[in-house]
Amino acid sequence: MPKVVSRSAVSSSTDVQPTASSAADLRVYYCICGEFILVIDKSLATLPRRKTDNAIIMRTQDSDAGNARVFKLNAVAGEPILLERQGGHECQYRFHCPRCSLPIGYQSSPPPVKSAPFFYILAGALTQHQGQIPPGALDEELPKTSG
Ligand SMILES: [Zn+2]
Repeated sequence: MPKVVSRSAVSSSTDVQPTASSAADLRVYYCICGEFILVIDKSLATLPRRKTDNAIIMRTQDSDAGNARVFKLNAVAGEPILLERQGGHECQYRFHCPRCSLPIGYQSSPPPVKSAPFFYILAGALTQHQGQIPPGALDEELPKTSG
């Protein structure tokens, strides 16, 4: 009798294919100085934002509310800062660009990255275009209606 490998073929259409497709969806982000900062499995534009400071929220740990984002951050930890918020204070452990030291993001617990349930990317800190002018930036003099 041939050995039957139980592959539990779950035919759920929402199942994510584990390898090729997810790797193809990786997004890379750079500091405005051109330094590579972040690679992540989803576009930052699609992630939720904080109401307090408009920072982009990246979930770092799986929970009932959702799965963690898969990402790798190239940044150096800085001094924690204390912010006044409505109803209390908030401590932010900030991470900076290794080249130009601009702040990239923060989390609520000490390094390493992902030690807190969320990591926040500061609004406007990163770009997907390393040393490039974004498409369309110089097109305003030539409005094209063809196509
Ligand atoms: Zn930089």
